[in-house]
Amino acid sequence: MSRICPNCASDTIMSKRAIHLSGTTATNSTTAGVGVVRFGGVGAGVASHSGISASALAIDCAPPAPKLVNAGLAAFLIFVLAFIACAYLMDTRALYWAYVAAAVAVVCWLQIKRSNARAIETNAAKVAQYEKEWRCLTCAHTFVPGEA
Ligand SMILES: [Zn+2]
Repeated sequence: MSRICPNCASDTIMSKRAIHLSGTTATNSTTAGVGVVRFGGVGAGVASHSGISASALAIDCAPPAPKLVNAGLAAFLIFVLAFIACAYLMDTRALYWAYVAAAVAVVCWLQIKRSNARAIETNAAKVAQYEKEWRCLTCAHTFVPGEA
């Protein structure tokens, strides 16, 4: 079975997932240097750098990812802000306002959790579509084999 691009009939086609994987490489480079300073000092240094390097095409063919909010961090910031606002605007009964701020933070935390869950759900459909998509490496046409 041979597949071709429905746009230009080229057979140089790959699934987006395969393009993404083939163009993404873990990098771990080590740079060593020796320097001679005037008046006789010698310095040596080694720098290590690791990360992920991806080609522009691989990035373009990356699987869709949901935009999530860090609920814990957001709730903490909301708590701090709410506490400061309450304590400053009202009076000095700090402990009482700490409870109020905590309640506000918990409500926000639950809301963020809920919206994150929705984002993951929505993203699952996008990923399912993504898994079906192929890319022509000749004309950059994106298509679903058997559909287009
Ligand atoms: Zn093509």
